[in-house]
Amino acid sequence: MEHLEKILVIDDSSVQADMLRSILEEEYDITVAHTAETGLHCARVGNFSLVLLDVIMPGMDGFDMLQKLQEEVVTEHVPVILITSLRDAEYEERGLVLGAVDYITKPYHAPIVKARVDTHVKLYRYRAQVEQQSMVDPVAGVPNRRSYNTACHDKWQEAIRFQQPISLCMFDIDRFKLYNDTFGHPAGDRVIRAVAQTATSFLRRSTDFFARYGGEEFVAILVGSEADAAFEYMKKVRQAVEDLHIPHAPEASRWVTVSIGGVTIAPETEDSYDTYLKIADTMLYDAKRFGRNQVVWSNEKMEQQKEK
Ligand code: GH3
Ligand code: MG
Ligand code: MG
Repeated sequence: MEHLEKILVIDDSSVQADMLRSILEEEYDITVAHTAETGLHCARVGNFSLVLLDVIMPGMDGFDMLQKLQEEVVTEHVPVILITSLRDAEYEERGLVLGAVDYITKPYHAPIVKARVDTHVKLYRYRAQVEQQSMVDPVAGVPNRRSYNTACHDKWQEAIRFQQPISLCMFDIDRFKLYNDTFGHPAGDRVIRAVAQTATSFLRRSTDFFARYGGEEFVAILVGSEADAAFEYMKKVRQAVEDLHIPHAPEASRWVTVSIGGVTIAPETEDSYDTYLKIADTMLYDAKRFGRNQVVWSNEKMEQQKEK
């Protein structure tokens, strides 16, 4: 069966909620909550494309609820349509000012309810799709440079705040120009994807981040691992790429490989991210210089660890 978009109806009246359900359930997957508190909980965990929110409810009213939804990262972008009755028309303005996308009035006129709901769900889907596309590199299928620009800042702050070690790590595919010259650009693109997918399969913890930095270069950020552990882990990633056994140009090497340079530090507020990224880049340069297909790491004291 085709996947239905999820809609959350928050209304203290079962009769009203059931009416909405009957209007929408043919095309949508409807969840009903009868209090603002339950509704808020559902909204946080339910991945809804739209919330229909009754303005007048006992306890937390629709306006407080709307504000709460907009304050939280997981719910802030989910569109909210307010449900008002004709006599609380003056509330509509307040709701729209607070950020509701639309309102519908009781008693319900089914075609209008459906039309408004359809429009907002469509807009939400479209927006989510555009956002997703703007953050993911289409060739590699991993986060792109734009996504990295935001993530590196967040991760750095996170490491400072929680006093965690952070590792910055640069990857570069070895002799890749030669690969392209030998097998062609489309084949090269497939290699970029294979390498990115392999690396990202190792970096799936919520504290990890992996992105395409540009060209045949990637960047990884790990929070919470000490230098030795990060170094060991990246050796596994490097090995996994080699173990894909993608034949390289004979003049280069047997298989496609990557060189990796990284640095682990416990950052303080006054440290600069860019300084350490440059160190990771220097380690990568050394990995190339020492013969490629290897990991070179630095700790905070600039002590270098080499794989080969
Ligand atoms: P090294 O081992 O020193 O890194 O050598 P290299 O040949 O990999 O390095 P160089 O920087 O000289 O060449 C990088 C090549 O990566 C050049 C370019 O053709 C290729 N490249 C960059 N972006 C893409 C891409 O999106 N697709 C493909 N197929 N190739 C790309
Ligand atoms: Mg390069
Ligand atoms: Mg390269």
